[in-house]
Amino acid sequence: MEATEHEKLIIIGGGPAGMTAALYAARAELQPVVFTGMTLYGQVSQTDLIENYPGFPEGITGMELGERLERQAARFGARIFIEPVESIDLQQKPFLVKTYAKSYEAETLILAMGADNKKLGVPGEAEFTGRGVSYCATCDGFFYRGKYIHVVGGGDSAIEEALFLTRFANSVTIIHRRDALRAQPLLEKRARSNPKIRFLWDTVVEEIKGQERVHSLSLRNLKTDQRFDVPTDGVFISIGHVPNTALIANQVELDDKGYVRIDWMMRTSVPGVFAAGEIADPHYRQIITSAAMGAAAALEADCYLNEPDL
Ligand code: NAP
Repeated sequence: MEATEHEKLIIIGGGPAGMTAALYAARAELQPVVFTGMTLYGQVSQTDLIENYPGFPEGITGMELGERLERQAARFGARIFIEPVESIDLQQKPFLVKTYAKSYEAETLILAMGADNKKLGVPGEAEFTGRGVSYCATCDGFFYRGKYIHVVGGGDSAIEEALFLTRFANSVTIIHRRDALRAQPLLEKRARSNPKIRFLWDTVVEEIKGQERVHSLSLRNLKTDQRFDVPTDGVFISIGHVPNTALIANQVELDDKGYVRIDWMMRTSVPGVFAAGEIADPHYRQIITSAAMGAAAALEADCYLNEPDL
């Protein structure tokens, strides 16, 4: 491994929180380093059309927004690497960050690793991932032209995924474990008025079955306890997220849901370590709120570098 580099600020994560932190930190002349991980721009890259990010009245694709955020941060001197971080050591000061190729010391850190798709945890799910089980309609929807598919979940993401999938599929059935959606009324209205969308209420998936690919789902109605199988060409699972805290487990305080605990200044339990975006936000989870948290974290990191004892 090459010699250790010394940095004022390292930002881990390249979604809206990490890129916005990079923009603010670069403009404060902290020359931040950003490690994006392998999913460039994070979950935003899996979003088809973003209609609720201010300033884009016609909407903007997730990839384009990600690219614009990156270009804007790079323009002011942020150094952005598509390179997963392998370990973080917060026990020593400066903090130690290791990637496959290099090791870095950092005076401050911003944790912006986001969150990943939550898994159903049923038989067949892992086995058929990529062969009829998907977590990303934008990535895989195209392969389901003319097909009969299912979406699991009742939140905004599930309904957005279902609506997007109607562009390709002949029929999209939403399987939800309750009889009322969690999704916002506007999305619910769109889904209910879409002739390709059907609902299976009070129902859970117990097994995903197939041979080469998924061919059916074993379901159970929670009210009647009736079990039944339905044929399917594919199932999109959209049941929420889990924060990506593996790198810092046991080093910073987490809340009872496993999200990084922060105060209103984005400070974690370790002085000099800040967190922004979905790794620390189980509540709002919007692109705009993640970006705002990134900006605040960078401003606070700058203050900390100037006056660490405040
Ligand atoms: P979410 O709001 O947490 O919804 C998850 C859904 O999956 C819920 O309907 C939940 O059921 C269901 N679920 C959870 N675990 C399950 C399990 N083990 N088996 C079956 N069903 C399960 O997650 P999300 O839809 O990903 O949204 C996350 C956040 O991002 C929200 O704050 C949302 O508003 C936001 N978001 C916003 C937009 C937008 O503004 N356009 C788009 C996407 C996401 P219950 O309802 O019974 O709990």
